[in-house]
Amino acid sequence: MKNYQKQLFSFDTLVQALEKIPTIGKKSAKRMAYILAVENAPLGLQISQAIHDCIVEIQKCRICGALSHGEICHICLDLDRKNGTLCIVAHPKDVFLIEDIGEFQGVYCVVEDYHSCDFTHLIERIQHEDIKEVIFAFMPSLESDVLIMFIQEKLEHLGLQFSKIAQGVPSNVSLDNIDHFSLARAFNSRVGT
Ligand SMILES: [Zn+2]
Repeated sequence: MKNYQKQLFSFDTLVQALEKIPTIGKKSAKRMAYILAVENAPLGLQISQAIHDCIVEIQKCRICGALSHGEICHICLDLDRKNGTLCIVAHPKDVFLIEDIGEFQGVYCVVEDYHSCDFTHLIERIQHEDIKEVIFAFMPSLESDVLIMFIQEKLEHLGLQFSKIAQGVPSNVSLDNIDHFSLARAFNSRVGT
């Protein structure tokens, strides 16, 4: 049976690629490969084209680091979003989660870790955009508390108000594993740091 699949070289390559996606096991990979390549080939081609287009067209925004169609994202270009609040997230995908809650009207900054963060750029941006409040929307954990302290230290001379999401968010659970309601509640009941 194993040899049979190996001989279907392209099918086997597809199954192996799908298996690399987190949470997709061997069985699901095979089922998906069958649907996409055999049962519903037009869907397979559509997905393949969409993935290709995303890889070519989507980049990280030069200002905030969120995903963007052009050099600067839609949020950074929107003057209505310049309300003096900046939300710092750890991953570009976390911007989707906060946007889905639909209540945050400010701008974002993605800080994946303190080694890669350009603080000169961030400080210039805070001054230029007249930011007054910085909200940390990190997964609650010891590491994020250390990162928050580190960032605050770098920004402390700017006289900003700092807060972070806390209540209702369990520790060490990534934000995309928290249900929408809990995340919305945590975001709205944020606490000072
Ligand atoms: Zn941006």
